[in-house]
Amino acid sequence: MTRLEFDGVGIDIAATRIVSDVSLRIAPGEMVGLVGPNGSGKSTLLRSAYRVLRPAAGAVLIDAESVWDLSAREAARRRAIVTQHTVLGAEFSVEEVVAMGRTAHKGVLDRDGAQDRRTVEQALEDVHMGWAARRSFATLSGGEQQRVLVARALAQEAGLLILDEPTNHLDVRAQFEVLDLLRQLGLTTLTALHDLDHAVSYCDRVAVMAEGRLVAVGIPEDVLTPALVHRVFGVRAILDTHPITGRPRIAVASAGQPRATGKAIDDQVDPSPS
Ligand code: ADP
Ligand code: MG
Repeated sequence: MTRLEFDGVGIDIAATRIVSDVSLRIAPGEMVGLVGPNGSGKSTLLRSAYRVLRPAAGAVLIDAESVWDLSAREAARRRAIVTQHTVLGAEFSVEEVVAMGRTAHKGVLDRDGAQDRRTVEQALEDVHMGWAARRSFATLSGGEQQRVLVARALAQEAGLLILDEPTNHLDVRAQFEVLDLLRQLGLTTLTALHDLDHAVSYCDRVAVMAEGRLVAVGIPEDVLTPALVHRVFGVRAILDTHPITGRPRIAVASAGQPRATGKAIDDQVDPSPS
């Protein structure tokens, strides 16, 4: 399985350093959540692994090879991407969208072969969207579209998945469906997440970005402490165990919101906003 490594990555946009000195290793099969306030550089960092933004410093390595030294085709075989705001015309059926994931495995003039069709079918089954194969992609709900985009990534048969806030705009159930699916796949996964509770309850490790730098990396419940959440996100937090799932849970509140009385949570909530 695939290993991903950011080694001292610095990224400039229009001569401004947007991401500085990020070093992060993601082990084969590990799921790492990238969290941080808006504008902290999460998407920019991910774009260096998509080969959209070439780092001005450092390197992004997939199985110890720089993604920028791979051909576009070879890169596409090793890592699949699910970005935000994927807009596809109404003319594409669901199975056509998923079949786009096969491009890196085919010659320019190849028609879809039987093997490709089976892979597409299987990918749609894996995300429980087989029933929609002939539907127009544009007519699906946001959650269904997101599952199809994950299926397209699966059809690529890459060992590494990189996702940018894949649960955005989904209702609560669809959010969990996407996250459950990512967990079940067991691929090496790096995903930006805007919901800290998703990061804490689904990820093996979290990486926290602030102002273009990595400020903490580790086991979610060790990293997303009330003090760190307050410092980085400017909100108060409690971290405890979810009574339904038994997994760690984080609840946040406005730093200015009055505190309920009579609850023994004061020791967890970061005291006074500084
Ligand atoms: P995040 O994904 O964490 O919200 P981004 O990586 O999108 O953050 O953005 C990080 C910073 O880079 C922001 O300050 C943003 O305004 C800036 N930025 C991103 N893309 C561009 C661009 N194309 N031109 C100028 N600034 C950009
Ligand atoms: Mg972003």
